[in-house]
Amino acid sequence: MTFSSRYRTSKLEEVSSRVFDVCIIGGGITGAGIALDAVSRGLSVVLLEKNDFASGTSSRSTKLIHGGLRYLKQLEFLIVSQVGRERAILHRLAPHLVIPDKMLLPFTRGGTFGKFSTSLGLWVYDFLAGVKGADKRKMYGKRSILEKEPLLDSTVVLGGGVYAEYRTDDARLTLEVIKTAHESGAICLNYCEVTALNYQQGTVDSLVCKDIIDGEEHKIQFRTLVNATGPWVDGIRELDHSLSGKHLFLTKGVHIVVPFEKLPLQQSIYFDVADGRMIFAIPRGEVTYIGTTDTPYEGNREKIAIEITDIQYLLSAVNLMFPQVEIFIDDVISAWAGLRPLIYEPGKSASELSRKDEIFVAASGLISIAGGKLTGYRKMAEKVVNLIEKKIKGTSTPCKTRQISLCNGAFSTYLSVLQYKNRITENLRQYQLSPVMADYLVHLYGKQVDLILDGIKTTENKTRIGLMLSELTYCLEHEMVLSLKDFFVRRTGRLFFDPQSIPEAILPAADLCGNYLGWSSERKEQEVREMQYVLDHRLVFC
Ligand code: FAD
Repeated sequence: MTFSSRYRTSKLEEVSSRVFDVCIIGGGITGAGIALDAVSRGLSVVLLEKNDFASGTSSRSTKLIHGGLRYLKQLEFLIVSQVGRERAILHRLAPHLVIPDKMLLPFTRGGTFGKFSTSLGLWVYDFLAGVKGADKRKMYGKRSILEKEPLLDSTVVLGGGVYAEYRTDDARLTLEVIKTAHESGAICLNYCEVTALNYQQGTVDSLVCKDIIDGEEHKIQFRTLVNATGPWVDGIRELDHSLSGKHLFLTKGVHIVVPFEKLPLQQSIYFDVADGRMIFAIPRGEVTYIGTTDTPYEGNREKIAIEITDIQYLLSAVNLMFPQVEIFIDDVISAWAGLRPLIYEPGKSASELSRKDEIFVAASGLISIAGGKLTGYRKMAEKVVNLIEKKIKGTSTPCKTRQISLCNGAFSTYLSVLQYKNRITENLRQYQLSPVMADYLVHLYGKQVDLILDGIKTTENKTRIGLMLSELTYCLEHEMVLSLKDFFVRRTGRLFFDPQSIPEAILPAADLCGNYLGWSSERKEQEVREMQYVLDHRLVFC
């Protein structure tokens, strides 16, 4: 059965008539990873997400699969080692989606690091993560570094190191993990909000969830309940009356996007900022994105405001590091803000708080997991599912996800991704579509691009819009798209990376979704209004 909205209605009926081994609240990367791990160990699984999959932090990260070089400064060797080793595993499981990306780390006069500390730091980083061969860090003198990146400030740069990281699309990674869990038998539902928990002799054994689409309530029974709600973890713990002791501390991270020609970097760069923090500048297709900030946050979690000071902070950091370019606020084409669900530690600032994950088990049996990284999702899931199995069966079985390829194991190597991309580039030429489009499609959808191109063959409209509609048809049939925002924000990332493509696409997309999903004309108008609002407000800073 494909992962389409057609499946959703029958699955919603099914969930009320079964008792699941595991019920997971939260459809970000943490919940997705737990769903896949649990179902692959033979447990029955239902996952409930109140909004769209990955609509929380998991679509608002820096989109790197990385070990966290800066955690070395905080002496977090275990995190760097565990998470760093995950990079190569995730690349193997989804080579088109977790892409090798060499990162340049310059050292500068007056900067935090010198030649020796950069070299040693990168050596330790590689060592802890088990990096081998050509991927090991390489150090360069001033001239070579400026050849690698001529935009760097030649008056302060003294040299630099180049080391291996990976780039991804966080929302798509989350979705591919969810789709893989679905293929293995997990029921994963978006737009289902958990509103109440029920107990049997003090143990949580069922919950009420509200279908946001039609307002209907459903009761779901389970043996174990997992709270993987990221920034909302404490809310569910409160619902369970078990919020005591350690609690979350949210910090906000903002990214901005500028056209590539405004900051035409040769490769991704991780650089020092005056306040001792570090910032990424990452070229991606026709844009470069820059981030992130890290400030305490206590506002509305559903609508995270981006402040003008966040933008100014990022702009002044890039303008200082790359003095030949001058980027102004008007050059910013989009921005996003995400919340880090960190664990509070008295006396530590936002940037000093540990990124490690932590599990809380309440007297009711509720298992909550918070903290952690996108990159470490598989290991976090393993720990949670070990706990669940011990609870249900008295013992735990080995985790299997290290061997479960995402996207049906479409590619076995990165070379095969590149070969496939060449084929798609050729294919798109007949429709006068640029190689950038092939890059975009293959890195988002992998071999599933074949289905999208089958779609364009059968339509009259063989333009960019025709291709976009074919992409949307694929997402409706295989990726549980239920609103225009699901498509333009999370499935494709167009809101962030190609917002100019959206205005002409909104109405045809609304017509297609309306026909497929049976929208009334009022619903269609509301969807168009909401999408237009999101598009118009992407650059409203307060
Ligand atoms: P979320 O993605 O927020 O998912 C929780 C979900 O629970 C949400 O979708 C929410 O809607 C749902 N939910 C809440 N309440 C309910 C309810 N009552 N019923 C049903 N569903 C509910 N990590 C990296 O490895 N690499 C990076 O480059 C990186 N960069 C980052 C940059 C920033 C700015 C930030 C903020 C984080 C970054 N991280 C990075 C960390 C990483 O993004 C997070 O650790 C991860 O995305 C958290 O995922 P999650 O599933 O726990 O939370």
